[in-house]
Amino acid sequence: MLNTDDYRIKPGSKVKLARTATSYDGPISRKDGERAFKRLTKRLEDLQEALYAEGKRSVLTIFQAMDAAGKDSTVRNVFGPINPAGVRVTSFKAPSSLELAHDYLWRIHRNAPSDGTIGVFNRSHYEDVLIVRVKGLAPKAVWEKRYDHINAFEQVLADEGTVIVKFFLHISKDYQKVRLQRRLDNPDKHWKFNPADLAERGLWDDYQEAYEAALSRCSTAAAPWYAVPAQTRWFRNLLVASVVVETLEAMKLKLPEPTFDAEAIVIE
Ligand code: ATP
Ligand code: MG
Repeated sequence: MLNTDDYRIKPGSKVKLARTATSYDGPISRKDGERAFKRLTKRLEDLQEALYAEGKRSVLTIFQAMDAAGKDSTVRNVFGPINPAGVRVTSFKAPSSLELAHDYLWRIHRNAPSDGTIGVFNRSHYEDVLIVRVKGLAPKAVWEKRYDHINAFEQVLADEGTVIVKFFLHISKDYQKVRLQRRLDNPDKHWKFNPADLAERGLWDDYQEAYEAALSRCSTAAAPWYAVPAQTRWFRNLLVASVVVETLEAMKLKLPEPTFDAEAIVIE
């Protein structure tokens, strides 16, 4: 019912975010979408168990977006229902002094998922070509090389058994205003409001340009980007869950062969 390929950024294509959907207005109804999402959640539980049982490969999902686009709630909706033992979420904040004393991939690589598990990155090494580029935290000569590094790094993970999918949750500047205002209007959500986010909001166009470069240059066969119309939240959940389930299904996970003859064993 949903063709996830429509949202995958084809390698070599030039992304224009102003022409990329921020909300869904296709034929799937919200009711059908929510029902399909529930079924996918069940399927994901089984596939996650198979991934763990096989114990030889892993999955890495990466989430990037402007502030208040819904990264946290996407992660909660899609991965919340499954066995927490098999999933590890890592949120990458501004680097600590220890992290800054290493190359930018150091903190990323050590949080890559181990065999049998699903890794979820809330922000990632892409910050090193997004905020770093937009705010000039490193000179162009430094961040310009990182697109190639990132493609090579992700290829290493892929070649060693980590299947990678990346999601950009796309929203408009107007929608961000609504979501930020909602945080201000609700005292229970004030903790989520960071006045510094307004400075990033002021750099909206520069961020869109930096995202276009990252999505265009780093959507590869080994680690594709998906542009998610994130303002339609039920569709956002459905699309992300669909991609994750399809990814796990394509892995053709195999349960290990038992080392015993189950029928011959009698438990006294
Ligand atoms: P929330 O939705 O709760 O606001 P968040 O992911 O925005 O979550 P924050 O602590 O508000 O978390 O923000 C993290 C900040 O760290 C972001 O502004 C992000 O751009 C910044 N950051 C992440 N990685 C890097 C990096 N490598 N260099 C510089 N800044 C970074
Ligand atoms: Mg924030």
